[in-house]
Amino acid sequence: MDANLLSLFWEGFELESYEVTTSNTLSLRLQPRSSQPPVCSGCGQATLLVHDVSRRHVRERDLFDYRVWLDVPVRRVRCVGCGIRREQIHWLPGRRGLTQAMIRQVEVLASLLPIKQVAELLGLHWHTVKAIDHQRLSREVQAPDLSQLRRLIMDEFALFKGHRYATVATRQRPLS
Ligand SMILES: [Zn+2]
Repeated sequence: MDANLLSLFWEGFELESYEVTTSNTLSLRLQPRSSQPPVCSGCGQATLLVHDVSRRHVRERDLFDYRVWLDVPVRRVRCVGCGIRREQIHWLPGRRGLTQAMIRQVEVLASLLPIKQVAELLGLHWHTVKAIDHQRLSREVQAPDLSQLRRLIMDEFALFKGHRYATVATRQRPLS
């Protein structure tokens, strides 16, 4: 049985080396698994034609008392159908500085706690947490149907003293 516990977490990659950089920061250097060729993010085809490689530093979820940073070699492939494309990495979508697992953790905490507290807890910038929370909201909350609207009434109130405010909006339907 494979004793490499960390191979559970980063599909297509494995741990090459690690370094404790400060008293609570763990830097993990990953390398692609030689048994898995990169996959084009445009069409999903595996290819062996690597155009170039750039290393990215991204935040991963904490491990015990350590803040975890990953050093990931991200390949661009020369796809027959799509041209030069970034390889597809499910756990590291887009150009964000956080892994998908870390983003998910921010989303869950930001739905429970004020932004400032989440940022402090995870050692992230306030704006980073705010942007992730905003994306979650625009994904999950549908815009209300305003087609029948006659009047819109809004008010704001504090949920916790000085911490967080909520907006209530109510609408009046036309008289039938
Ligand atoms: Zn392709």
